[in-house]
Amino acid sequence: MRFWNEECESKPVEAMRALQAEKLRETVAWVYERIPLYRQQLDEKGVKSTDVRTIEHIRHLPFTVKHDLRDQYPFGLCAVPVQDLVRVHASSGTTGTPITGPYTVADLDQWTECMARSLWAQGIRLDDICQNAYGLGLFTGGLGFCLGIEKIGSCLVPTGTGMTERQIMLMQDFGSTALFCTPTYALTLAEKAEQLGVDLRRLPLRVGSFGAEPWTIAMRQEIEARMGIVAHEVYGLTEMMGPGVGFSCEAFRLHLNEDHIYPEIIDPSTLEPLPLGEQGELVLTALQRRAMPLLRYRTRDITTLRRVACECGRTLMVMDKILGRSDDMLIISGVNVFPSQVESILMEYAEMAPLYQLRVVQKGHLSALHVEAEAKADVYAQGQKALEALGTRIATQLHSVIGIHMPVGIVPPGTIARSEGKARRVVDERREGLRN
Ligand code: ADP
Ligand code: ZN
Repeated sequence: MRFWNEECESKPVEAMRALQAEKLRETVAWVYERIPLYRQQLDEKGVKSTDVRTIEHIRHLPFTVKHDLRDQYPFGLCAVPVQDLVRVHASSGTTGTPITGPYTVADLDQWTECMARSLWAQGIRLDDICQNAYGLGLFTGGLGFCLGIEKIGSCLVPTGTGMTERQIMLMQDFGSTALFCTPTYALTLAEKAEQLGVDLRRLPLRVGSFGAEPWTIAMRQEIEARMGIVAHEVYGLTEMMGPGVGFSCEAFRLHLNEDHIYPEIIDPSTLEPLPLGEQGELVLTALQRRAMPLLRYRTRDITTLRRVACECGRTLMVMDKILGRSDDMLIISGVNVFPSQVESILMEYAEMAPLYQLRVVQKGHLSALHVEAEAKADVYAQGQKALEALGTRIATQLHSVIGIHMPVGIVPPGTIARSEGKARRVVDERREGLRN
């Protein structure tokens, strides 16, 4: 069987749009009846569920933003009574107070379906042994993968994150064929295996599915080479169910499960929807959820949507890799910079290890960006002069591509903190200063 759910994954675009309009109408009626904030906002805009006749009418609905979820913490945006809930997750809180994600039985079923589709598309089958090294707990990443793995009927090994040496041992002992974790934890695992003298490329491990943080194509290739695997990707967020909103197919395109989650791209300054092919902020609407179906949720993730006739045969909307979150966008000398842009350039240098951090410092009235990155151990051993020359070469390239001068300090191997989950790419000394 080629697709997990052929009907939904290869639905003709017009039929998909009709389904989306119908589900959106139901959802607007559902939240209007049950969530005071939405009732008030819909009344203010004078919009009723019956006004949603085509999916384009979504542009008349109000947006939901992160602080709505925080203001309504924990259950103010929950549309069902507690007796209908079977689970509550919370976001990892990367950017502030946690955000809750409640689920009914039907919500969990949908999530399971989306994860099963995703992992099936990435070649996970019954005979796979799936080492799930995402954090297991409140974070949606880990338990979401568990749902999909078990639905397909493959064998789940729920290691959770951390205890890296033991992960390598279990990987060998159990013969894990699939690995699930953040891309930066995959690198931590690869490094630990190399230190232990374990060649991951000779193990049965053949595929990985990584996500929960931005990573570049170059990073994907690095992981593939060091682990001897095919590296896939899943996209998601607590607010929309967790992982499984989008997944990469055999052609490495990210498809969105758009029968469940409707995507739009807006210009974050005008809030106007942008046409396909233009980059902006991703806005998502839950079309079928019942405990907390958010309307037009502003994810703050920056990307582009496309309609592509994908070789894999899926008609589901395609999304570019996430460039970064708007929260992580730095404005230095008037230029917008995402850590992923720096990552792409650092990864062009074979001398460098895939480990870096950006430091924002205050220089008089101006802000400056310093890059700290690790070189490979043998390169580092070449001594200070060679390292300075290397740093200067990379800084010149960063300047010519991104347009700002950022000094590159090559730091000793082992300096940058190894990640077990989402890596912290930016240290903002201006904000740290304020906190003190
Ligand atoms: P938190 O906001 O606390 O990190 P989540 O764990 O719900 O909470 O994280 C969701 C966010 O993680 C997304 O909005 C996005 O920024 C990031 N993310 C998830 N998957 C990917 C991916 N495949 N590529 C890039 N970023 C991702
Ligand atoms: Zn595809």
